[in-house]
Amino acid sequence: MDIKGLECLILGGGIGGLAAALALSARGARCRVLEQAPALREVGAGLQISPNGFVVLEALGLGEGLRQASVQAKAVRLCDYSGRDVVRLDLDQLERPWYFFVHRAELLSLLVEATARMGIPIETGRRILKVRSGARPSVEDQTGAVHAADLIIAADGLHSVARPVLNGEATPFFTGQVAWRAVIDSDSTAPEAQVFMGPKRHLVTYPLSRGRRNIVAVEERRSWQAESWSQTDDAENLRKAFADFGAPVRDMLARVGPVNLWGLFRHPVARTWHADGVALVGDAAHPTLPFLAQGANMALEDAWGLRRALDDASSLTGGLVAYQELRQARAERIVSAASRNAWKYHLSFPPLRMAAHFALRLGGSVAPRRLTGQFDWLYGYDITHD
Ligand SMILES: Cc1cc2nc3c(=O)[nH]c(=O)nc-3n(C[C@H](O)[C@H](O)[C@H](O)COP(=O)(O)OP(=O)(O)OC[C@H]3O[C@@H](n4cnc5c(N)ncnc54)[C@H](O)[C@@H]3O)c2cc1C
Repeated sequence: MDIKGLECLILGGGIGGLAAALALSARGARCRVLEQAPALREVGAGLQISPNGFVVLEALGLGEGLRQASVQAKAVRLCDYSGRDVVRLDLDQLERPWYFFVHRAELLSLLVEATARMGIPIETGRRILKVRSGARPSVEDQTGAVHAADLIIAADGLHSVARPVLNGEATPFFTGQVAWRAVIDSDSTAPEAQVFMGPKRHLVTYPLSRGRRNIVAVEERRSWQAESWSQTDDAENLRKAFADFGAPVRDMLARVGPVNLWGLFRHPVARTWHADGVALVGDAAHPTLPFLAQGANMALEDAWGLRRALDDASSLTGGLVAYQELRQARAERIVSAASRNAWKYHLSFPPLRMAAHFALRLGGSVAPRRLTGQFDWLYGYDITHD
């Protein structure tokens, strides 16, 4: 269909929403973004952009901007909790070695600046409470104002208001894991992620630009914790939880000031991604656990996928059907791979842990390409071409 002139209302000025606005506007759509936050604040911590997400940024003309705002990753190093190396995955062995560590606020700034250059309006302080599909779909904000368009793109994240309208309410379940997130100042700039694996806990850390370091520390826990990006905690609780880890981890944690705590929940991937004139994009369709670092990458893939499906279709409805066909199976595969990953880091029975670490070490020294090759299906996919 001809996207030119298509009126699109985008709910959510996050990564998926802004990328969709850019992708569709480049084809001549008239996009408007409605964001609940009173201002586009600098929030969040580190994100990983893998090659499958980077190709979308590149296609949006933001590849160079991302390179400048981020640290290009060379490796992922798995260590046991004392700090001893288990295996090093060489990211240069990827078919497309484009793997980056970036602060979420800096990625958002890149996207916001690009929307400003294209004249796409972002209206802040508009919290959407209702979504109605139909021949002329519409949304209602907290003031009661109704906004209608040809297409509503719901990129309103984890607690999407559109998803239950299309799918009914789903009850996510607590995985028994919580994650602390923090950014510290650091002089160590080795361009690699380190994963320290201990019984019932693991910690991932990687450098960000301008001498900062991102930390995500996961602990198994019985008691329930809110699923929120903004809940804070006392850094002392984090230090206590990892007190038996080796010096590299303890030294890092000694420098943690403000810290966020986030309960990890499993959500099913939405069964229905579209209704009359409404489409779900990003976390609204498929919230994921963080163990494959694919939340932002999938949102970028969706944004491009939606434009591609509309481009190739003969009608809006046909385009939305094609969009779900293009995206759903891949999102399901990624979300389940992320869910399976958690236990691998947390083996608490020592013989099992030693055997698993031995197998990893052996794999890393005998067939390093095979270790990275298991990610070809994920990182080798290019939605802008394949
Ligand atoms: C504040 C915040 C901090 C985050 N920090 C990290 C992090 O440190 N590391 C990490 O890996 N991931 C983080 N994420 C998640 C990550 O950005 C997403 O998983 C991923 O980028 C998917 O993007 P998305 O566009 O689907 O959702 P998001 O990027 O979450 O964007 C959703 C947007 O929709 C807006 N919104 C929600 N409901 C409404 C509504 N009713 N009306 C209007 N607007 C609405 C939100 O304010 C937000 O701007 C964070 C998300 C948020 C919102």
